[in-house]
Amino acid sequence: MRSRWLEDEAAAYVARYGPEWGEDLALRTYSARLLGADSDLVLHGGGNTSVKTRWTNLLGDEVEAIFVKASGADMASIEPWGYCGLDLSYLRRLSVLSALDDETMVDQLRTHLLHADSPTPSIETLVHAFLPAKFIDHTHADAILALTNRDDGERAVREALGDDVILLPYVTPGFKLALAVAMAVKARPSAWGIVLAHHGVLTWGETARDSYELMINLVSRAERFVEENRLQLGAPPAAAHPAVVTQPEAQTLSQERLNQVAPVLRGLLAGRTGDRDRPYRRVILKLLKSPEVLACLNAPGAREIFVSPPLTTDHLIRTKPLPLWVDDLPYGEPAEVRIRLEMAVREYCREYEAYLGRHASDMPAGVEPFDPQPRVVMVPGLGVFCAGPDVKDAAIALDITEHTLAVKHAIKASGGRYLGLPEKELFRMEYRSLQHAKLERADAGLEPGLLGNGGLSAALRGHVALITGAAGAIGTGICRGLLEAGCLVAATDLPGEPLDTLVETMEQDFAGRIMGVPLDVTDPGSIAQAFAQVVAAWGGVDLVVPNAGIALVGALVDLSLDRYRKLEQVNVEGTLLVLAEAARLFKRQATGGDIVLVSTKNVFAPGAEFGAYSSTKAAAHQLARVASLELAADDVRVNMVAPDAVFACGDRRSGLWAEVGPGRMKARGLDQAGLEAYYRNRNLLKVQVTAAHVANAILFFATRQTPTTGATIPVDGGLPDATPR
Ligand code: ZN
Repeated sequence: MRSRWLEDEAAAYVARYGPEWGEDLALRTYSARLLGADSDLVLHGGGNTSVKTRWTNLLGDEVEAIFVKASGADMASIEPWGYCGLDLSYLRRLSVLSALDDETMVDQLRTHLLHADSPTPSIETLVHAFLPAKFIDHTHADAILALTNRDDGERAVREALGDDVILLPYVTPGFKLALAVAMAVKARPSAWGIVLAHHGVLTWGETARDSYELMINLVSRAERFVEENRLQLGAPPAAAHPAVVTQPEAQTLSQERLNQVAPVLRGLLAGRTGDRDRPYRRVILKLLKSPEVLACLNAPGAREIFVSPPLTTDHLIRTKPLPLWVDDLPYGEPAEVRIRLEMAVREYCREYEAYLGRHASDMPAGVEPFDPQPRVVMVPGLGVFCAGPDVKDAAIALDITEHTLAVKHAIKASGGRYLGLPEKELFRMEYRSLQHAKLERADAGLEPGLLGNGGLSAALRGHVALITGAAGAIGTGICRGLLEAGCLVAATDLPGEPLDTLVETMEQDFAGRIMGVPLDVTDPGSIAQAFAQVVAAWGGVDLVVPNAGIALVGALVDLSLDRYRKLEQVNVEGTLLVLAEAARLFKRQATGGDIVLVSTKNVFAPGAEFGAYSSTKAAAHQLARVASLELAADDVRVNMVAPDAVFACGDRRSGLWAEVGPGRMKARGLDQAGLEAYYRNRNLLKVQVTAAHVANAILFFATRQTPTTGATIPVDGGLPDATPR
């Protein structure tokens, strides 16, 4: 591990933040970011750093202050305001207490902040406060865990780090740990670092650079030890294992297997809500499948090595105490694959509930157990599925899992046997109220809610939508509406610039929540491939919006049969194929689903010289109604929205109206503005229908506000002749 410290970068931080926040906090921010930039040191909010300094209050008194990283703040992107300032003299005095429970400790921290609106400081704040050094760095470095989480951990730490580094046996984080660290360091003034078994490492210094360089030095020694031992034993690095398949045929095979397994697994990992309308708490599934990971899973004894407790207790809320292991799936027989997965997940849930039962007396009051489903599922040959309530959570679980596999593999390769914490401690930490508070903060306001009441922003959290014809005007509005409701969106359309720019634009507001997928609705292979691509990225699909459609103007007597057939192909067959693919996927997931067809007011009130469009859309509409009959037993709801003319969404003009508009304008002697006014004035409410209106109607169905299927919402400002009857 190399030092990333650069003096001119450090100076730039001081220049940027110093005037407002002071030099100490500017440098603190800089070196915390250096630590955060290295995923082998800290992951997603893990670890913490602090600086002790002086602070002048409103009355001009200078007081001793400590600035500690806020709980959950990510060091990779931390800003000076990601630190909480606290009254250091008071906090130091807490060290005379013999015990302090979590709730009182948090109360004491919060009531001794320098600013009332400060975030909650890290639960390890007192560790920092009780040590005398000015700068303190704390990481959960992989290489340190590779030394401590093994049967011969003590020997490994000694050999790797020498006698000037203290090794503290595991102590539950919080007040107890703060006292233990302070006492150990006081007893060994010559020590320059302290290793916390099954947890991490602390270094300190009088300057930000000193503390940081000691951290790099210490972790580098640990890395060298593991590597040298591996070389002595002649064990291969993870990447060198055989059976890593990269040939194109093998890749196709693994894609097929993934497409078979992921939706079934995603359905099985969904939590149950007890709500008849929204019965599942869906998860997003990310697959970890690097060659190194596949090699690890194929290594001899892999199950025993990897089905073991996490590296540190802060991973528990993401990974649960143990992963699920499923091997030898009979891929040729989908029904059998499902049975095997069902049995494995059921067994895992049973064991998790038994674990809850064994530790029921330690369960804090008022804490609800988590869903019993696994969060990490290892499938040799395929990879590791990592689940989370949203895509960001699943990605965090994936990063943690990747590092966990590497550390456990390194321990094995360097001659050790992995040793996790005992079950009792795992339970205590999994259900510790502070850990719950962390998750709850992340979840704040994210429960499925009714439209309005501020609930819409996350009503579809954990849901995946696939929209066809997404790059058009209505499609764009639908994508935005669904993204705003917390959905992940697969925007599909013919490949090209309109689709690319749609995704680029939406990425700016909804980074990582939209993917562009090329799809031609007239080609069954392309549809299957597009669905498979979404399954590979997020695990499945919950909402399908068949929206692709094309138009043609012409009187029946003049219609070209060829051009009519083109409309049939896109509007009718395209809808049929998308409905069928959606139905097949929903069946594999077995958690219901929603389909909302973008129909048209023309189904109910056709226009003259618009026979091709009106009749083909009527057929599509009827197909959706039939789908509502056929899929209800699987809790799949199929509904329709029927908009009148939507000309544009922002600066994205409607392709359909590019086809239809000129003829309509000519026939009525109008220009573009006149045409839009004409459509506005023909409805009862005198409103211009927008793509956002269409999106709102879709959201009404997708959020399951009423027990409705096979129904149509007109989105037309009120057209008496188009009222469904
Ligand atoms: Zn820690």
